Formats: sequence, structure tokens, C-alpha cells
Amino acid sequence: MAEENGNQRYYRAPCPGCGAPVEFRSAQSTHAVCPYCQSTVVRQGDTLARTGKMAELFDDFSPLQLFAAGRIQDKPFTLIGRLQYTYPGGRWTEWIAALDGDRTGVLSEDNGAYVFALPFDLQRTAPPWNELRVGATTAFAGQSYAVTSNEQVALTSAQGELPHLPELGRSFAMVELRNDKGLVLSIDYGTQPPASYLGRSVQLEDLQLTGLREESAKDEKGRSFNCPNCGSPVTVNFADSKSITCRSCNSIVDLSQGIGGELKHATQDEPVRPLIALGSMGQLQGAQWQVVGFQHRMGSAPGDDELFGWDEYLLYNKKRGFSFLVDAEDGWSMVKPTTGAPVMAENGSTATYLNKRYQQQYAYNAETTYVAGEFYWQVERGQKTFNRDFASGGALLSMERSANELTWSSGSKLDSGLVATAFKLDARKDMFKRADALPVSAASGMGCGTIVLIVVVIIIVLIIMSTCSNTNDSSGGYRSSGGSYGGYSSGGGHK
Ligand SMILES: [Zn+2]
Ligand SMILES: [Zn+2]
Repeated sequence: MAEENGNQRYYRAPCPGCGAPVEFRSAQSTHAVCPYCQSTVVRQGDTLARTGKMAELFDDFSPLQLFAAGRIQDKPFTLIGRLQYTYPGGRWTEWIAALDGDRTGVLSEDNGAYVFALPFDLQRTAPPWNELRVGATTAFAGQSYAVTSNEQVALTSAQGELPHLPELGRSFAMVELRNDKGLVLSIDYGTQPPASYLGRSVQLEDLQLTGLREESAKDEKGRSFNCPNCGSPVTVNFADSKSITCRSCNSIVDLSQGIGGELKHATQDEPVRPLIALGSMGQLQGAQWQVVGFQHRMGSAPGDDELFGWDEYLLYNKKRGFSFLVDAEDGWSMVKPTTGAPVMAENGSTATYLNKRYQQQYAYNAETTYVAGEFYWQVERGQKTFNRDFASGGALLSMERSANELTWSSGSKLDSGLVATAFKLDARKDMFKRADALPVSAASGMGCGTIVLIVVVIIIVLIIMSTCSNTNDSSGGYRSSGGSYGGYSSGGGHK
């Protein structure tokens, strides 16, 4: 039966499993999961037929829940359904958003990163999934995209009303393509013909959401296990963490297979003491962040023996997800994984992302030498990557290439004083100063004569440097910023 409720049209019918009313808010919804008995039902004219029973939802501590409402591009939407998927590298959620005029969109959620997408017409037949190889470039509807992931995925649970309901546990391909305009195109081979969605990254704060899930003490408690190396209790705070270090013995424990059973671990000696302690809270870029992870990394330019080091703090905010605070010799910066795929010039000298052109500053090999805390990707000591850092004024763009993936992060430089204040470490402000701040800080306590002398010395040094070095070689000297992470799985798209 259909009924009018204000200007919202509802369709409601009794569940064939338990008789409870099952409601449909969108005419696009053909399937639903009964909220009382978890029966899966399909609409057949005016009645519902039972097709099976849904598996239990995985508690991913999402701030979202059914019937949360918000706005996208000034239009209201309501979350009416939820699909939980797994793939070999982890899991993610797709929220079905009912928009006006019976349209439905998809808000995908992955480790605190979000992409809002709408159904999209490819304007040609979707290529077979196995022809879309990761790294290849292809065009749809006049736009060029890079294939960034091609995974076999399977539905693990669902909730609410749904425009389609893949069979539980049956695997199918999900291909994701991205471009330098920040667009994310996903092709879902779970339906025939494949369904395509086009979207871009969103921040929950910008969606003006109401009806979010209340935080409860229970959510924050976390899971515990005993360290496989020393037996001390270790507590995991995030549902999707893949690695954690033991606070007692600094061993890195692999959580990628879950925490039941035997856990693989690697010991670390010579602990590095982070300047900002794990667990610290700091106010940066309009949000409250918690330091949840720390990495010390070392780099060297190809063909150069000289090593340089830097630190990366993994920060977490419930609505913004994960970001990196980078402490390098030449200054502090904050970066996060990009949603789109920047386009790099053939020789690596420039990269373009969101209509901004960046110049390469440094190119170097990097190695992770120490880790502490909790990570949403699998960290290893000795993990090696090849990095390129690009800049455009204060804006930064970094590329990291490992054996099997190419990842990007973008962000901006931060003033060292601002970082110290953010983490309430003003008393230790001097320890935060880096090369970018030195001319100012050095001048503050000196007389005129000293400053003139310093300026003369700097000019002499510059002259010497310009005569002895090939200025086209951008690889020497400091490195700027990075942000290593678990690849596009953190981009919040479909897989
Ligand atoms: Zn029921
Ligand atoms: Zn231990």
C-alpha cells in the first residue's frame, strides 16, 4: 500500500517472515532487509516475497546510521540503506542516499574517508572488468581516467532498503578509476549490465548531517589481546587497524588477519621518542586530532649516500578520517591521501592536480625505520618506497611508489609555532623550529651587525652553491613532505 506522508511518499507492506511493517521511502528500492527479523525481501507488485536472511552487520563504529539526513549540492538526502563489502585488503561501506525525485546516490565510507556518487552513463558499454588493468588510462564520456583499483569484492551484510542486493558472499569485480579533477568513477560488475557511479570526495562536516549516531562509551572501549612477543595487553582502538605496536616491547603486530589465532609480529630495538606523544590531542585546520601513529623514515637521493630523516604522525578525527603531520628538516606540513589521481609529466618534473600545477622539489628513496601506534594499513620496518615531492607555493603534493602501488597525498606547509601551540607544547616551542623558520628566529635575538654578517655569509654560500651544482638537479638537500599510507583503499571510494 502507498500512502502520503507530508510530501514524502512511503510504500509499506508486512514482512513475509515476521509480519512487521517494512517501509520503502524510495521508488528505486526493490529490496529491503526487515529490521526485526533480518529477512531479505523483494518487492513484487504490492506484496513482499522473502528471499533469505541477512548476515549480522559488522560494527565499524561509523558516525553514520540509517535515516541520517544531509544536503549535497544544496539538495536534501536521507540515508536509507547500507551495504557492507569486503575485498582481500579490507572492507568498506556503501550508504544508499535517497535524493529528491526518486534518485538515489551512494555515499561510500572507507576508514573515515567519504565519496558521494551518483549513477553515471558511461556512454559506451562497460569493458570487461579484466581488461581494466590497474595503472592503465582510459576515457569515458570525454574524460580521461586512470584505473586505480580492480578488486574482487563480496557483500558481507546489508541493512535498510536497497536498489539492488547482491547475493551474500558471491564475489564479483569492482573497478575504480580516478582522475586529476578529483573524480572517482566506479564500475560495479555485480549487476548485469554493470552499474556505474561518478562522484567526488566529500567531508562529513560539509554535508550538514543530522541524525548521526551518538557516541557511546561502549564504542570507545576497543578490543584487547596479549602481545605475541612479551605477553603484555595491547588494545586496538579502530575496527579496521592492520598493524599495531606493543607499548611494552615495541613489537609490530600484524592485525591483517584479525586478532584471533596466532599473530605475526616483528621486534624493533632503538625506540625513537616522538616529539608529540602518541595519544596527544591537537587542534589543527579547524578540527580536533588525536595522534594515533608515528613513523620515523630515512631517505637518500638516488646515487647519493647521504641520509636524511623525518617523522610522520598519523592523526585521526572521527569526521575527517586520517591525516599525516610531517616533521621534516625543512618544515612541518599536513597532508592526506588524495581522492583523485594527479597526472605527472613523463620526466617527473611537474604534476597536475585539481587544476594546480606543482613543481618537483625532491626525488628520493625512502625507508621506514621505526613505527609506533596503530595503523589502518600494514606497516613494516624496512618498508621501501620511491618518493617524489612537488610544491606550488605552500601547497604540497607527494607521490610514493612501492612494489605494487602508486599513491598520492596532498596538503600544505604548517608554521612550526602553530604545531607546538596546537598540541599545547608552547613551552617546548624551540624544539619544533625547522629550517623554514630559522632566518626569522635567528634574527630575533641578534644585533644589526650579526644580521648583516649572516646575510653576507648566506650570499657567499649561495654563490658557491650556484657555481658548483647543476641547478637542474632537484634531488639534493632536504626533502619536504610525505605521508605514507595504505594506498587508494583509504580514498573512500568504491573499491
Ligand atoms: Zn521480518
Ligand atoms: Zn610486547
